[in-house]
Amino acid sequence: MSGVLHLARPEIVGLAPYSPARWDPSLVRLHANENPWRPAGDRSRAGINRYPEPQPSALFQRLGDLYGVPPAQVLVGRGSDEGIDLLVRAFCAAGRSEVIVCPPTFAMYRFAAEVQGARVVEVPLRAGDFSLDPGAVLGACGPETRIVFLCSPNNPTGNALDPADIEKVVAGLQSRALVVVDEAYVEFASQSSLVGWLARFDNLVILRTLSKAHGLAGARCGAVLAAPEVIALLRRLIAPYAISIQTVEAVLDATEPARLEAMKQQAEALRNERERVARALAAAPRVSRVWPSEANFLMVSSPDPGRLLEAGIAAGLLVRDVRGYPGLAQCLRITVGTPEQNDRLLAALEAA
Ligand code: PMP
Repeated sequence: MSGVLHLARPEIVGLAPYSPARWDPSLVRLHANENPWRPAGDRSRAGINRYPEPQPSALFQRLGDLYGVPPAQVLVGRGSDEGIDLLVRAFCAAGRSEVIVCPPTFAMYRFAAEVQGARVVEVPLRAGDFSLDPGAVLGACGPETRIVFLCSPNNPTGNALDPADIEKVVAGLQSRALVVVDEAYVEFASQSSLVGWLARFDNLVILRTLSKAHGLAGARCGAVLAAPEVIALLRRLIAPYAISIQTVEAVLDATEPARLEAMKQQAEALRNERERVARALAAAPRVSRVWPSEANFLMVSSPDPGRLLEAGIAAGLLVRDVRGYPGLAQCLRITVGTPEQNDRLLAALEAA
């Protein structure tokens, strides 16, 4: 079997794909038991009385153009959360396979692995700067390891992983395990996406999302970028009609050139605002440390994080309690908001 498919569950590789109703927009649809009339108030272009295209090819094309890969290397899912879930389901056998995670990091990797019944092996990021320890990851990888999840910039700590460390892991695990690099926040980072490496490594998988810089969290749309055989496998697993007509149209609109230009300017504004808020937080009385961030949030340490949380809520503002993560017992995660929201938060924390 070519490439990395020998790592996938054989029963998934051999699965006969579900065959949804034929897609041919030039013909009248009397084959899918839909309602022929649009519901009142439907503002979609295609009509939400109709099923969407089972695998929306216009979206694969558009996101392929956006991220710089051919459409056959793009899977579009309901947020990158769905990509994480599909990867684990396709590659991990319950009760046998292992997934490596590097805490403190995004909790969904562990959650998806546990739902699937895969064993979770932890290789913590280095204490002090939350950098990746490539030697430790390679050392933890055994014959049952199927996926290593890396997050860069990392949620909730905010730092980007060193690409040289990531490269050691991807190169060291060629034909041994998939390495999934979650780039949900890369538009806010000073370093660029690793998408160009897909041409070199067929065990590399990159996750991107429309939820953050593109401002479409409510539309639920994310992409898995990987070798064509990995994408073909995931396309067999994903539910037919997963992406709603409204989401297809919202993403096509949001990725028009003028909107992309506006997105870049907004990401730049958020980065500037992040640095302003970081400086102000560093001077706040109950903040002992503001961690460097390449994302649209800041992690802070405090001798009394509970008090800061309560002060935020009293001012009508929610920040994220991350004290439950290993090594983050004193920490909170604060999303960068509008300048006005940030000023309100800073005032509340200063008075706490
Ligand atoms: N990856 C990371 C690192 C995240 O922080 C998040 C959202 N919190 C996601 C993925 C999920 O994003 P989506 O909305 O695309 O499912």
